[in-house]
Amino acid sequence: MSAFIASCLALSPLLAPPLRPQGGAADGARRGEKELVTCCHPGEHGMLEGGPLLLDAPEAVAGFSTWPSTTIESNGPVANRVDIVFVGDGFQAAQQASWATLVSQRWATIASREPVVSYRRYFNAHRVDVTSADAGVDNDPTQGIARNTALDMGFWCSGIERLLCVSTSKAIAAANCAPQWNQILAVANSTKYGGAGYPTADVCTFSGFESSSLEVALHEFGHSFGDLADEYDYADGTTYTGPELGEVNVSIQTTSQMQASGSKWAAWIGVSLPTVGAHGSFEGARYYQFGIRRPTSNSLMRSLGVPFNGPGLEQMIVKLHQQTMMLDAAVPAVNASVVRGSSVTATLNQPSLHALSTQWYLGAEAIVGATGSSIDTRELPVGSSGAQLRLVVIDPTTKVRNEALRTQWLRENYNWTLVRDACPSDLNRDGRVDGADLTELLSKWGTAGVAAGRADIDGLGSVEGGDLAVLLGAWGLCNS
Ligand SMILES: [Zn+2]
Repeated sequence: MSAFIASCLALSPLLAPPLRPQGGAADGARRGEKELVTCCHPGEHGMLEGGPLLLDAPEAVAGFSTWPSTTIESNGPVANRVDIVFVGDGFQAAQQASWATLVSQRWATIASREPVVSYRRYFNAHRVDVTSADAGVDNDPTQGIARNTALDMGFWCSGIERLLCVSTSKAIAAANCAPQWNQILAVANSTKYGGAGYPTADVCTFSGFESSSLEVALHEFGHSFGDLADEYDYADGTTYTGPELGEVNVSIQTTSQMQASGSKWAAWIGVSLPTVGAHGSFEGARYYQFGIRRPTSNSLMRSLGVPFNGPGLEQMIVKLHQQTMMLDAAVPAVNASVVRGSSVTATLNQPSLHALSTQWYLGAEAIVGATGSSIDTRELPVGSSGAQLRLVVIDPTTKVRNEALRTQWLRENYNWTLVRDACPSDLNRDGRVDGADLTELLSKWGTAGVAAGRADIDGLGSVEGGDLAVLLGAWGLCNS
């Protein structure tokens, strides 16, 4: 990265390289390295400004304290959820009750916004009670005030008043006290406006007692969790002439070009959503007034207090599915052998506002009517070599319109090996192979596939002479 990106204010759009917010360059903070920080904040006319800059990465933390942690919302196993962890700075021991109340309030606000509204059960939230020697953080309310705090948070970072920095290595060390973390929210004990995002470290900061600061954290969540680009520009006449951009929510293509190419947010063009309005291709995004386009006139990646637009939320839902599975557990476990006769039951990770769609298959054939989370295997045809039982789970959300993304990330397949039970010729399972079984077999003569049921005794695909021969050969009591 170029060294000239030393401060937010010095970041001229003409000089700004097409920085990709989640670049993956810094996998943790090490001595002498730089880390990407975003300092998006409202400008004079409500639109955001700031963009990315590079700051010195903090040194690694050794011997960090162990702080108590509390899970404030548990929706499932941490291994299969997106775990949000709040860590506080500038809260003294006597202020921990106030800290706990603050976190509950801020989490409630986050949970009232997308993507948490639709996918709340995909998230857990935890709080780590970090105690600082001093109350408040550095340079608050004015520059030059130094405080001794656990996470080294402070305003006026890199000379920018609203840029609220944190030692990401200390924030991560504190978050490690929680059972798990995917995204860290570092909260300053302050009423001064400010925030920052550290996309590669998955850390956002905000000022705990200043309400619009949380809006910045939500915007930063779009960067760090969704890999979304800023959709604002500086209305300064600059024109981008480079290649197509990597982020899903910015493009060099006009509406008609995108409809022709089918790329980026083509599936959203013409769709209208509350607040953000109709989707098209609006010029002015990613710090350039011309040459880069955004999906909607306004969105949370352009201004605070607005929802994500369709492609932005779609991408966040894809990220949720990339980090979690739609199946939490199954009995018997996935990939296990199941003796015909028992049931297989899946515990699904259901979204909050809609249901996942499920379909059971025997091999390649969909089992008619088997669309629940559980299946009874008693009547399924299984040969001596077994059969493959499959569960396909799809998230049918209308908030994802790109069907290629749905196929890749919102569709999961789980397998079990179904093996035959004892005495397979006992079609009615009464303990003996007799005339009743023969009658049943003959009634199904010629039937194929799943509909053949147990009468396809040899599992070769239909009820025919081979099955009759097997049944007659097994005539009598099942000797089990
Ligand atoms: Zn931003």
